[in-house]
Amino acid sequence: MSVLEIIDLKTWFQTQDGLVKAVNSVNLRIEKNERVGLVGETGCGKTVLSFSIIRLLQPTTMIEGKILYKSKDILKLSEREMQKIRGKEIAMILQNPTTALNPVLKVGDQIAEAIWLHQGLKKKEAKEKAVEMLEAVKIPLAEKRANEYPHQFSGGMKERALIAIGLACCTSLIIADEPTRGLDVTTKAQIIKLMKDMTKQRSMLFITHDLEVAAEICDNIAMMYAGELVEYAKTDDVFKNPLHPYTQGIFNSLPNRGLKPIKGMSPSLIDLPSGCRFYQRCDYAREICKNRHPEMVEMENGHFVRCLLYD
Ligand code: SF4
Repeated sequence: MSVLEIIDLKTWFQTQDGLVKAVNSVNLRIEKNERVGLVGETGCGKTVLSFSIIRLLQPTTMIEGKILYKSKDILKLSEREMQKIRGKEIAMILQNPTTALNPVLKVGDQIAEAIWLHQGLKKKEAKEKAVEMLEAVKIPLAEKRANEYPHQFSGGMKERALIAIGLACCTSLIIADEPTRGLDVTTKAQIIKLMKDMTKQRSMLFITHDLEVAAEICDNIAMMYAGELVEYAKTDDVFKNPLHPYTQGIFNSLPNRGLKPIKGMSPSLIDLPSGCRFYQRCDYAREICKNRHPEMVEMENGHFVRCLLYD
């Protein structure tokens, strides 16, 4: 039984400018103790996908398909049932720790509250556990730091505190949304190591725009472009043999591989093209790509790609 299985998920929402088709027919599976990297440019629908899983969306959002968590369809659960899962079994580590932490509460109290809510410990025990969690995420002088406010923490320490909140209660699935965004190189390396060490016994969906960071942490990579998955494979296979022109473009834009950015911009999620969504930016585009929308096909042993070159 998979920990998470997303089947044909669509998440759309109305804005003043039109209907945003943020997630389109996404299929994704995460097994026990497996770490999947969801990689794509800003605005490609990654975060909406993660908020769909944890069901933190506006009530007016249109959502279709299935999100099976341990075979139970999350989309069919009542809010009360969902509250029992959210935070306790599925936890989210949000990007931007500056806004994710409450500025008027001590960091230790914020971690203790999460523990108290989800583990049913007494408040004193929850506070002790919060200090243990700060030690686990390598915050020096954890007992003293637990009594400090977020503004007294550096950016890296705030990110660690968020990871501590996520891991303090969650037993099963972590969704980490860009936890290394905006961090300097040294802190980023520390957070990557921490995420690797702390999530060994858990499943994780690791969301990032940074393919190299995903590769350090994840077993499998799912490339997302303009609201849909375009490539999925084991991390090694994506690195040895990237199939989709978008994935190849991302590789070519890396500093150690030529620093050549992909030309053009992603299409608007309000006005998606009827053919291949990468058509305007693709060096291999043919006439047929303009009007025909490619399906995801399996090329070899679990390596999937959505591109007419392989049709
Ligand atoms: Fe490029 Fe065509 Fe493949 Fe789209 S389907 S990625 S335009 S080759």
